[in-house]
Amino acid sequence: MAIIVQKFGGTSVADAEKIRRAAKRVIKAVENGFGVVVVASARGKQTDQLIADALELNPNPPKREMDQLLSTGEQQTVSLFAMALDAMGYDAISFTGSQIRMMTDSAHTMARIKSIGAERIHKQLDKGRIVIVAGFQGIDKDENITTLGRGGSDTTAVALAAALGAEECEIYTDVDGIHTSDPRIFKNAVKMDEISYDEMLELASFGAGVMHPRAIEFGKKYDVKIHVRSSSNETDGTMIIHEVPQMEGVIVSGATVKKDMAKVGLVGVDNVPGNAAKVFAHLAKAKVIVSDIIQTEISDKKANLSFMIGISDLAAAKKAVEQIKDEINCEGIFVRDDIAEVSVVGIGMRTHYGVAEKMFTALAEAKVNIDSITTSEIRISCAVDEDQAEDALKVICAAFELDKPPEQRSTSD
Ligand code: ASP
Ligand code: MG
Repeated sequence: MAIIVQKFGGTSVADAEKIRRAAKRVIKAVENGFGVVVVASARGKQTDQLIADALELNPNPPKREMDQLLSTGEQQTVSLFAMALDAMGYDAISFTGSQIRMMTDSAHTMARIKSIGAERIHKQLDKGRIVIVAGFQGIDKDENITTLGRGGSDTTAVALAAALGAEECEIYTDVDGIHTSDPRIFKNAVKMDEISYDEMLELASFGAGVMHPRAIEFGKKYDVKIHVRSSSNETDGTMIIHEVPQMEGVIVSGATVKKDMAKVGLVGVDNVPGNAAKVFAHLAKAKVIVSDIIQTEISDKKANLSFMIGISDLAAAKKAVEQIKDEINCEGIFVRDDIAEVSVVGIGMRTHYGVAEKMFTALAEAKVNIDSITTSEIRISCAVDEDQAEDALKVICAAFELDKPPEQRSTSD
């Protein structure tokens, strides 16, 4: 029997009405002959509410207890979902992450999946049941409940699709698919019919909130077709797939903004072997996730070193660099907490020139100062003042004609 995984995000299961609507989708797939595995998120803003409840009692709650608490949001949804299906005359059974042996490491609140026990699910599917699995959660080797990080239900769904050898993983959400940019900021953003895993990974990592980056990694590694689509209509959404040659003709597929970033600069560090290693060892020990590392030699004696982090890691990062400052003869520490990053992404960049020029010109014309620039093979990112970030995104989207489908852009071939 062909299997399909259908994941419903928080807004798609927010109330009884929406759960019923989602259940109808499931039934449709069942009637089409699929074995259906549903992955569900916590309803509406439930996870935010649980976090607020925790912080009311403890400003720095133990991460293990946080996972124990947050996992209950998804647990409620899956049992309600199974009840809804039962009321509609379909046989369904719900499971928590631990019940299907969703094994993770022990990094509470940001655990990574290690293995999944697919047998229990296969057994239930073979009995003709619909299986509903709680997203976002697993257990570590000592049976502690873990969670996969905010938005992690996507990763549960794609990982399950991989483990079950599913035909496809459908991600049902409150938008029609992946857009060229955030429609809340650039309102003429258009839906993409397809996008490559690599581009989607860059977009997701650099601010596109619509999918959890780890889910894309799983999809690429295990060849899972991912279809991001709306739970409120039948229209096709966006397929995330392996790269095909035509994709190179599109120079820029999408643009993103990532807010709540901070930048730490170490000025005039001794230019000798081992200093960068020392700095990042301290940051790693403080569990700070770092991006966009830039080091430049400014003389044969000294170098400048800077990196970007999420604002929530700023206090820990500052503490870590203060500890190492004297040992590396750093002349000064420079911190910015009002920074955002705008990015353009496209695999066509590999074979077209002028992309950087176009982006920087658009920013210059809008009088946006660029703080720093970083690139990958298929991405250019500029750090800018947070106040100007939305305007920066809009002018970049206009410059690359992200309000039109690729074939209508003058920049595509
Ligand atoms: N409920 C979790 C969150 O709000 C996981 C998810 O929705 O994917 O982040
Ligand atoms: Mg999500």
